[in-house]
Amino acid sequence: AQLDTLDIVVLAALLIGTIAYFTKGTYWAVYGDPYGNVAVPNGAAKSGKSRNIVEKLDESGKNCVVFYGSQTGTAEDYASRLAKEGHSRFGLSTMVADLEDYDYENLDQFPEDKLAVFVLATYGEGEPTDNAVEFYEFISAEDVSFSEGVSAEDKPLSSLKYVTFGLGNNTYEHYNSMVRNVDKALTRLGATRFGTAGEGDDGAGTMEEDFLAWKEPMWVAVCEKMGLEEREAVYEPVFEITEKPDMDADEDEVYLGEPNKNHLEGNQKGPFNANNPFIAPIAESQELFTAKDRNCLHMEIDISGSNLSYTTGDHIAIWPTNAGKEVDRFINILGLGSKRHMVIGVKGLDPTAKVPFPAPTTYDAAIRYHMEICAPVSRQFVSTISAFAPTEDAKAEMTKLGGDKDYFHEKVIDRSLNIAQLLEQLSDGQPWEKVPFSLMIEGLIKIQPRFYSISSSSLVQKDKISITAVVESSVKPNSPHVLKGVTTNYLLALKQKQHGAAEPDPHGLNYALTGPRNKYDGIHVPVHVRHSNFKLPSDPTKPIIMVGPGTGVAPFRAFVQERASQARAGQAVGKTVLFFGCRRKEEDFLYQNEWQQYEKDLGENFVLHVAFSRDGPKKVYVQHKIEEYAEELDKLLQQKAYFYVCGDAANMAREVNVLLAKIISKQRGVPESKAEDIVKAMRASNQYQEDVW
Ligand code: FAD
Repeated sequence: AQLDTLDIVVLAALLIGTIAYFTKGTYWAVYGDPYGNVAVPNGAAKSGKSRNIVEKLDESGKNCVVFYGSQTGTAEDYASRLAKEGHSRFGLSTMVADLEDYDYENLDQFPEDKLAVFVLATYGEGEPTDNAVEFYEFISAEDVSFSEGVSAEDKPLSSLKYVTFGLGNNTYEHYNSMVRNVDKALTRLGATRFGTAGEGDDGAGTMEEDFLAWKEPMWVAVCEKMGLEEREAVYEPVFEITEKPDMDADEDEVYLGEPNKNHLEGNQKGPFNANNPFIAPIAESQELFTAKDRNCLHMEIDISGSNLSYTTGDHIAIWPTNAGKEVDRFINILGLGSKRHMVIGVKGLDPTAKVPFPAPTTYDAAIRYHMEICAPVSRQFVSTISAFAPTEDAKAEMTKLGGDKDYFHEKVIDRSLNIAQLLEQLSDGQPWEKVPFSLMIEGLIKIQPRFYSISSSSLVQKDKISITAVVESSVKPNSPHVLKGVTTNYLLALKQKQHGAAEPDPHGLNYALTGPRNKYDGIHVPVHVRHSNFKLPSDPTKPIIMVGPGTGVAPFRAFVQERASQARAGQAVGKTVLFFGCRRKEEDFLYQNEWQQYEKDLGENFVLHVAFSRDGPKKVYVQHKIEEYAEELDKLLQQKAYFYVCGDAANMAREVNVLLAKIISKQRGVPESKAEDIVKAMRASNQYQEDVW
């Protein structure tokens, strides 16, 4: 028989697929994996990329997998801590796994004598983190079915033993819903949990302590059920660091902060996403505050030619660079000063260990571009480092800090010290040369891109993304250091440079603004876009009410900009009400002049209510303004107005939620409990949307 065109296409595709499959291992061998991950032995096909977790555990001789669903790196950090502890204290053979890297259809074949740990963060409105979406959808589906085709009623996961901890924030309505729902789903499917399903609360600021308090009884339960015994924990490095004095940092294959191979080779290629940033030009930048002691940046980031796209209401992620001052401090306190530009190789000592940045690199580049060195210090990490203290006094103090929660809070957390500041203080500046660099890579999370609510409309400027970012700077009592936000101060320095400031960095933080090999020169910043569900109604005639004090106004500038342009184009646009709040009219009234233009475009359909908290004898907040206009607001809600809140999750958003129920109760003459149900229903139907942080 003759082959027709379709057959040829199919055969060609199969052939290409087969070649790709069987050459993957060779390809890797030739080019090397810059992330230093050890390939699983025995063959090209099993190049360590299997999505079959049962097989992976078997091949790598592990009996415990710690999965993580992580957005900002904390859940991932907890997962790797549990994996390390499981191994060092209890002799489990552990691996850490990104939920996104595996399939779950064969979870029913998970061996009875092994353990699965799930560390699950809840994101935003009770959503799974990006890397956990598929797992969550699979496991919580009503009609979930496994490889054997067994259904939920057959308790298909009866051999699965698991442990779980959730990371949440009680200021959100759906507190820790990920861990709760996954736990429920696993139980429904017949799996057995050891210990309690732990919950950490970021809202109360107790995440770390909740985690530490949960894990001890959990380990007791695991030991009892699995017949394990605790042994004396000895530190074992996860990564092998090889110094390469013969290599020059300028050599082409050395990563000096480039996020991946394409960037290293100087040809950044899309798709740009959370693993691959676009190095975007900052087209414009400006200061929005007139107050001398505070900064708020407006920036226009050019995404043309990147194939990145956004729609109004999305978020942009900015990839920061650590301040030179803190990089120096970190390098010096570890005694790495003389070899900061030494080329190093970094390799996982175990096939399942994931090196968090590409290598070969240098100490300087790894610390500056890839490690979150300024973050709050974890008490557990302090305990681990104490063994490597340079003096007996430092060791004793470190051990005390690690063991005493209250003392740790007073000395470290309340002073907002970062790890290098703490080490410096404890040893009087004497370097901690014995701390293995691997321990630092393990103990600190990889640097996290920060999100910003896009403050421009994609309809008005599809290739330029605006952000509105307040620069973080604060001094804690008893701390000798000013706490400077990592990303916002980096952006501030970029803005200063763009405006030709002689000293681009007003705080002596000394950023490497031109990036690795000067690739960010000409004012560039690495970014990617994250799509969100925070959206205008598709019908512009629908009324909207927006509550956005401070930088919470960011997405609403975009919303109003969009509606104003629709009005200018002759479209009918519904009532557009904005509640904004700031300290003083003359200081921090964001976009004051622009609102006047939008008023012209939208006429009486645009209503702006501003609360100034420090201009009069009484502090006025957006909540007060909302109360003042309660009647008008409720009328709009009854006309099915969309209600949006953006900004501070801890106080404002929660208070607005409570207030809205009160208003509805009063205006409609219904009991408060009924009004609360109405608000809940509004949320469920997306009539009430939040973008809070
Ligand atoms: P970081 O270095 O991350 O520090 C932030 C805070 O963490 C500090 O102020 C401090 O409270 C704490 N902290 C840091 N280090 C320590 C330490 N060593 N000890 C104790 N505490 C410490 N922000 C905006 O300005 N505009 C927006 O439009 C906006 N939109 C957002 C949208 C989303 C979806 C999210 C999640 C966040 C948004 N944010 C926005 C917040 C933004 O992402 C950043 O969190 C913020 O700009 C601070 O980043 P930073 O790197 O400058 O500060």
